[in-house]
Amino acid sequence: MSIWFDPSLLFINGKWRACASGETLPVINPSNGENIARIARGGGADVDAAVASAEGAQAGEWGAMTAAERGRILLRLSHLVLEHGDALAEMEATDVGKPLTQARADVTALARYCEFYGGAADKLHGATIPFNAGYTVYTLREPHGVTGHIIPWNYPMQIIGRSIGAALATGNSCVLKPAEDACLTALAFADLAHQAGLPAGALNVVPGLGAEAGAALTAHAGVRHLSFTGSVATGRAVQIAAAENIVPVTLELGGKSPQLVFADADLGKALPFLVNAGIQNAGQTCSAGSRILVQREIHDELAGRLAEAVTALTIGPAMEDARVGPLVSARQKSIVDGFLAQAGPDQVLARASLPDGLPEGGHYVAPTLLGGLAPDHPLAQDEIFGPVQVLIPFDDEDDAVRIANGTTYGLVASVWSADGGRQMRLAKRLRAGQVFLNNYGAAGGVELPFGGVGHSGHGREKGFEAMYAFTTLKTVAAHHG
Ligand code: NDP
Repeated sequence: MSIWFDPSLLFINGKWRACASGETLPVINPSNGENIARIARGGGADVDAAVASAEGAQAGEWGAMTAAERGRILLRLSHLVLEHGDALAEMEATDVGKPLTQARADVTALARYCEFYGGAADKLHGATIPFNAGYTVYTLREPHGVTGHIIPWNYPMQIIGRSIGAALATGNSCVLKPAEDACLTALAFADLAHQAGLPAGALNVVPGLGAEAGAALTAHAGVRHLSFTGSVATGRAVQIAAAENIVPVTLELGGKSPQLVFADADLGKALPFLVNAGIQNAGQTCSAGSRILVQREIHDELAGRLAEAVTALTIGPAMEDARVGPLVSARQKSIVDGFLAQAGPDQVLARASLPDGLPEGGHYVAPTLLGGLAPDHPLAQDEIFGPVQVLIPFDDEDDAVRIANGTTYGLVASVWSADGGRQMRLAKRLRAGQVFLNNYGAAGGVELPFGGVGHSGHGREKGFEAMYAFTTLKTVAAHHG
């Protein structure tokens, strides 16, 4: 793995610097437990410096830049991300245990976000509003100012792309607090952004602990918008902190997303999607399709085919690029093992086997298919965030909707059926921010607005919609007689 910068430093005001406390935290490779680097333990004083630098950027070169100029920087950044693609993918694989092919897909997505938002930067405009005689009224879309971004460890590059990309395109200056388990690509991205010509202070990165650097960022009165992806519990704390300062917040908090399979579905087409939606990134995916709802008459057939597919999955270190890598940390493995301990032997329909010779310090969990659980069982309700899926039978459309909508979450859902009318009906009835008809995830689609309802959060990132979230609307009414 080649890291071309010193990962133990913070990136503030266009420069690398040590954190105020001088303390560092270890970076552990989840594939083998080895300590591969150290990152800074940023804290309140560092967040203060980062916010001050971001405020300075608003008042300086960055704030004065045209939308077209901001867009060109993002387009250059997109190219730089691709040029450094191998290094970024290896960094991510080693840092979070993501199999290399999946890490490369995240690099491609990051570059595509920069391209999309680079192209969109000068396409955002306000409106003129017909009004009383003697007036001309128009609206301006303006950046919030300093935006705070707290991102998790599961898809660092993708979430940086969708969140920082949209925020920079619309002229905000950003302070990013990456997860302590996934800081390397965030720091690399800041360095590349600087190389692409991003003025000092427009993007600042403060690694550290959530309870320290993260909490300091959410509480900072200089931050005018917060974007958070992670757990419900931390999301709630972020929203409470945002309320103290009366700032808007976008929350993306995961889910227990259903995949509905009807008897008329093309199972051959569905099968790879059904499995991949559960095991991609070892199931540590906010939009994981962790509940497979199947029409009762094909339950046994699908259970058999899923079992075959799950037991055939390969598991191994991220750099060996098996289908399933380790979980990100010992802590995450113990969360997932705790869930699995709740399943009785009859409820395990299939489990892959861990191969001999896996490195001892790695955090591996065998992909598992559960069944025979009531829809309100905790294993069918709670986000497990590991390679675990639950198979649940349903009788008809109404039953499927009742079960699908019967959790506190509502992030995504998919419907597998040949019946066009049913697809349209269910697209309306399913409680989710995204519904996929005869596919899952639409290949990541950076253009597609994304976010949830209920405990999955609120606000939308991705696509053009995010440009609205990262701006505030000003109405100008001119009276000229
Ligand atoms: P968290 O929600 O705690 O972490 C997400 C981000 O929030 C990280 O950057 C974290 O920093 C930061 N953070 C933690 N505490 C605070 C705080 N008080 N104020 C501000 N920021 C904070 O998730 P975990 O990593 O603890 O994972 C636990 C569970 O959360 C998982 O099992 C999964 O169910 C869910 N999750 C969902 C994700 C999603 O994509 N929706 C992503 C990650 C987790 P740090 O890591 O440095 O503490």
